[in-house]
Amino acid sequence: MKKVDIIIIGAGPVGLFTVFEAGLLGLNCLLIDNLDKPGGQCAELYPDKPIYDIPGVPFQTGQEHVDALMEQIKPFKYELYLNERVDSLNEINEDNDNYWKVTTNENNQFISKNIFIAAGAGSFEPRRPPNIDEPDKFIDNGVSYAVRSIEKYDNKNVMIFGGGDSALDWTVELSKNAKSVTLIHRRDAFRGAQHTEKMMRELVKKNKIKLLTPYLIDSIKGNKKVEGVTLKNFETNEIESHEADELIFLFGLNKKLGPILEWGIDLNGKKISVNTENFQTSKPGIFAIGDINDYPGKLDLILSGFHETTLAVQEAYKRIYPGERVPFGYTTSNSKLHKKLGVKE
Ligand SMILES: Cc1cc2nc3c(=O)[nH]c(=O)nc-3n(C[C@H](O)[C@H](O)[C@H](O)COP(=O)(O)OP(=O)(O)OC[C@H]3O[C@@H](n4cnc5c(N)ncnc54)[C@H](O)[C@@H]3O)c2cc1C
Repeated sequence: MKKVDIIIIGAGPVGLFTVFEAGLLGLNCLLIDNLDKPGGQCAELYPDKPIYDIPGVPFQTGQEHVDALMEQIKPFKYELYLNERVDSLNEINEDNDNYWKVTTNENNQFISKNIFIAAGAGSFEPRRPPNIDEPDKFIDNGVSYAVRSIEKYDNKNVMIFGGGDSALDWTVELSKNAKSVTLIHRRDAFRGAQHTEKMMRELVKKNKIKLLTPYLIDSIKGNKKVEGVTLKNFETNEIESHEADELIFLFGLNKKLGPILEWGIDLNGKKISVNTENFQTSKPGIFAIGDINDYPGKLDLILSGFHETTLAVQEAYKRIYPGERVPFGYTTSNSKLHKKLGVKE
């Protein structure tokens, strides 16, 4: 089982900055996030919105902020596991020492003396199609909630469901390599960017793709593999049958605290209570930083999370090297960091 200095649950801004602060102390990290990209809320909920309260940075969009954090942690050793949710957290004894073991929904297991829960408001989970029993039984056999590889759709009959940016973007993109693309939405109005909607409607005019509105999925056809769907037409109430190889449901994401509630850590409502000296939870070695934690005066702001994790990594270091002085220093005079960055001193 892979052993690292710090396991970080959640690769939002606070999880990412943890890699930097840990790196300054020579600690290595492993980040796990349920999403298909790093950046948490900034990347998922407001990539194009400007943030004005990052100290020293007058203006940065959500995505620019994430890109800058990714650049900032480049000099340090870390691994990033995406599309994986941490489901369980258990205490184990190895080499006569206590460790925490995390297990993901992909059955990956990692151990560490320090777990940093930087899970924001919980893991982002795709919304399932309404009225369909167990759509997940077709996952990897014709049902997906995100596009992970474009090639998967080469020469396939693809149906995309949804009315937001993702549905429009992927309809336009997959029209280039799929055998056919049909976009299905419950009304003939879209919430996504106007220019992408325009591109989509141009493709409809040129018969490159098909648009079906106002329709809703009624059932998925097939046993082990998707063979098609039945759709309900809202205007006529008629049920129509269509063949398809791949169904992509892009109905947005729900935030779910989910497994974290079951880890036996002291909570205050849906947040994790912490000690503000080091942001440790009720369990030694488990820290909670960023939006997920709670203490008197807590503000759900990025800069609060940055402060919290800076103090938490100090405690993490002490847990790995008991009795040793934490090598605190300013980055302006940190020669190890300067060497990594190629800065001449
Ligand atoms: C529209 C909007 C505008 C905002 N504007 C500002 C602003 O101007 N300034 C500001 O400071 N803040 C702003 N915020 C708040 C800011 O985005 C949050 O404070 C910040 O994102 C918190 O960072 P985080 O790393 O704690 O959590 P998040 O960004 O929420 O990231 C948590 C990550 O953990 C993952 N995760 C959760 N559980 C698990 C699990 N079990 N396994 C694997 N992964 C898991 C999630 O998928 C997510 O990616 C704004 C928020 C919104 C929604």
